[in-house]
Amino acid sequence: MAEVENLHDALIDELMDLYNAENQLTKALPKLARNATSRPLKAALNSHLKETRTQMRRLAQAMRLLDEKPKGKLCDGMQGIIKEGNKMIEEVAAGPVLDAAIIAGAQRAEHYEIGAYGTCIAWAKAMGHSQVARLLIQTLNEEKAADKKLSALATSGINEAATFGMQEDDE
Ligand code: FE
Ligand code: ZN
Ligand code: FE
Repeated sequence: MAEVENLHDALIDELMDLYNAENQLTKALPKLARNATSRPLKAALNSHLKETRTQMRRLAQAMRLLDEKPKGKLCDGMQGIIKEGNKMIEEVAAGPVLDAAIIAGAQRAEHYEIGAYGTCIAWAKAMGHSQVARLLIQTLNEEKAADKKLSALATSGINEAATFGMQEDDE
């Protein structure tokens, strides 16, 4: 017998997945921040860590609004993204190249979340759960802003610094 029988069950399932994904990020973001060299990058990762804790509270509230006890369910997708990020930290020496790689990993995580929140918002709206949708939209906007910030950091110096010393190889 399938556990998920309708869109309502599917929404709860996705919210549990996101709750676990955000929880994994509360552990992964400090590690990324610790390994980053750029101060603004460290600051961006730490400020998104704070937002991530708020996002977990919003997910718990959304589950309560749907008469569900807030809980998580292992998010394999986020686990994979974080695993890749940890591998990079082991393989790349600290400095601008690692910073560029940390941004790449963090943006993968943000894009995963943006996709998942987009789906949950659409499903919540389809079922008339407007309060749930509103909560999730707040988070989606934070995820999009975090993603934009990371892109801005990459293109406003980090990527350029990461190419330093490569000129000879181009010729
Ligand atoms: Fe998040
Ligand atoms: Zn997931
Ligand atoms: Fe995020």
